[in-house]
Amino acid sequence: MTDVIIIGAGPAGCTAAKTLAQNGYSVILLEKNKLPRYKSCSGQIIKKTADLVREYFGEDIPQSVTCAPALNKGMVFTNRFGKEFVFEQNGYNVWRSSFDMWLCEKAAACGAKILEEQTVVSCRDTDDYVDIEIAGKNRYKIKAGYVINCEGAVGAVKRKLLHKKDRSIITFQTFNKGSIDLDRHYFYAFLQPELSQYDAWLNVKDNNIVIGVAVKNQQNIDMYYNRFVDYLSEKYFLKIQQQLKTDKWLMPLVDNKHSIECGVGRVLFAGETAGFLNPMGEGISSAVESGYRAARAVMSCFETPDSVWQSMKKAHNR
Ligand SMILES: Cc1cc2nc3c(=O)[nH]c(=O)nc-3n(C[C@H](O)[C@H](O)[C@H](O)COP(=O)(O)OP(=O)(O)OC[C@H]3O[C@@H](n4cnc5c(N)ncnc54)[C@H](O)[C@@H]3O)c2cc1C
Repeated sequence: MTDVIIIGAGPAGCTAAKTLAQNGYSVILLEKNKLPRYKSCSGQIIKKTADLVREYFGEDIPQSVTCAPALNKGMVFTNRFGKEFVFEQNGYNVWRSSFDMWLCEKAAACGAKILEEQTVVSCRDTDDYVDIEIAGKNRYKIKAGYVINCEGAVGAVKRKLLHKKDRSIITFQTFNKGSIDLDRHYFYAFLQPELSQYDAWLNVKDNNIVIGVAVKNQQNIDMYYNRFVDYLSEKYFLKIQQQLKTDKWLMPLVDNKHSIECGVGRVLFAGETAGFLNPMGEGISSAVESGYRAARAVMSCFETPDSVWQSMKKAHNR
């Protein structure tokens, strides 16, 4: 029995865990992967995210979680007609595994219990508590006053609760040794429909040239990726010496049918689970903010940590 179970050690889950733990609530954060866990991401921390992290974590993002070049000077968007727009900013370029681990350690330092390699299989919401089924080395159940579900775009627990499918797109990235005639301090996004079904992008992380495309269907990856590489080679003299690795991920599909879902009963959703993502694929700022807001929502229901236990005891004695 615990006050709040949080699913997922991404920015939403870590912010919720830290906020609740530092206010005296008992918090268990369950992460299905071994920590630090891998997350496919361009790792561009926009200024808004850096400001939110400073506000909710009380510190600036440390140098140790950044990659070269550590500073992101902005985004360069090329629209569907090939016109370029530059948005200058002062942000950071991070490795997500290190950045998210740092957030996780901050939550642990406030008293949140972090359990890795624990997959939440299901949540059953009752009037007074939530029954959570977990698969680690063994299967077991825990009860909690509330659950904040921050499992990201994959959303298996959410799908079971809502009995409906998520609408997502597939991202594909390659990490390459090579050279390109672009300023590596910027993140470049390309919206020409011939290059991707959503957007295509390029950025540099520790001498890796990262090239990505977002598509609706898996079978379109090769075609769009090859076209994008040809475009970059022709326009910006991209030369790939060696492909080091590839990754594939899911992202919520943000279009005019997109909706935000806040949860079911005592199970609240935050971050990508709730559907928060800016249309260009930036999601860390809304993950941090919605994780914080979900934690505050739980706190406003239970004025003191004791009332969680009283409500749980009442439920238990029934
Ligand atoms: C290719 C790509 C590039 C991106 N680039 C950027 C960028 O540059 N800047 C930006 O701001 N955003 C970017 N995003 C978006 C950003 O990564 C997400 O919006 C953000 O990570 C969402 O945070 P979250 O906490 O909601 O979920 P996540 O970071 O996805 O964390 C969810 C966590 O839950 C865990 N989990 C899942 N299911 C379970 C379960 N059943 N039990 C226990 N644990 C579970 C997962 O292992 C994971 O650790 C990018 C996304 C992609 C795919």
